[in-house]
Amino acid sequence: MSLEKLPALEPPFVEVLPINTGFVDLAESYILENGREDTVYVSTVLTYLIKHEPTKSLTAFDLGLSKDHLKPCHGRYAKDCEAIQDWNPQTSMQSTLAYQLKYVYGYDKIDQIILSHYHWDHCGDISDFKGVKLYTGPNVRGVQKKVCIDHQPHTEFFGPELPLGTEFEEINFTTPSPWIKKIGPFDTALDFFKDGSIEGHLMALCKTKQRWILLAADAVQSELNYVDKDKWLRKGKWQGMFADLDEKLSDKIVEQIHTFYHQYKDTYVYPAHIGVRKYTKTKAKLERGGGRKHFGYKVRCAIYSKNLKHKELQLCAKIQ
Ligand SMILES: [Zn+2]
Repeated sequence: MSLEKLPALEPPFVEVLPINTGFVDLAESYILENGREDTVYVSTVLTYLIKHEPTKSLTAFDLGLSKDHLKPCHGRYAKDCEAIQDWNPQTSMQSTLAYQLKYVYGYDKIDQIILSHYHWDHCGDISDFKGVKLYTGPNVRGVQKKVCIDHQPHTEFFGPELPLGTEFEEINFTTPSPWIKKIGPFDTALDFFKDGSIEGHLMALCKTKQRWILLAADAVQSELNYVDKDKWLRKGKWQGMFADLDEKLSDKIVEQIHTFYHQYKDTYVYPAHIGVRKYTKTKAKLERGGGRKHFGYKVRCAIYSKNLKHKELQLCAKIQ
């Protein structure tokens, strides 16, 4: 893999604020090839607030968990949505991004939203952000049609991610533009603010005053995929399906993240899901789906996101 230099850390910068919207259980067998099915990591569901310093505009990168992720799971979606219980989502009104932005961080409004991908644990509650411009990666409309209109069986897409009729713009990486470039180990990046700070599809590469930070969302399922200095670890399977649609591309991206993290100086990777606790699932629970209820969740979630701000994330992002 060619090691192209990252652009110099010169203004304009963005600031990145991680906000945790709750927890999901991720089986080791989903995170890693050859991982154990009964070893479960209770993991964060992080969103990121990106503050563009020159304009002070605020961008939410992902919306995280919804306060009621099963609410739209009625009628034709109900059966598919049962699968969501496999991830044992732990969420509450107080853990939503909208609530925390207002009551924990004191922001009245945000200017735009970018969704890393069309998954129920990243699309949150779009209804809390009426009138805010929404961007997605390419072909989300195609996925939405497949799931919500053609009712094809889910492949980890369930239907309640974004209500039909939600307006959004798909970020386009294929129409030639001076704002699309190769950067570091990544083939295609779009300079989202069109001023030298770069955002890309699915992942966001943020130029902060201190360092480049890659918001990797689910491009890695966990820090376990890339912290080993000598080799990156490929993702695992869920219900017999590989964690990503395109296995080769998945491997390539995990490798790029590994390269970005280890072969460049002082770079951080912030994934959406960071394992904070590990437990073993009993056989009965494995068959039934769902997992432990995490005691004291509601309170801890709000406190947790504050504490996570830097210490935990840096630990997780830079374990070597
Ligand atoms: Zn996720």
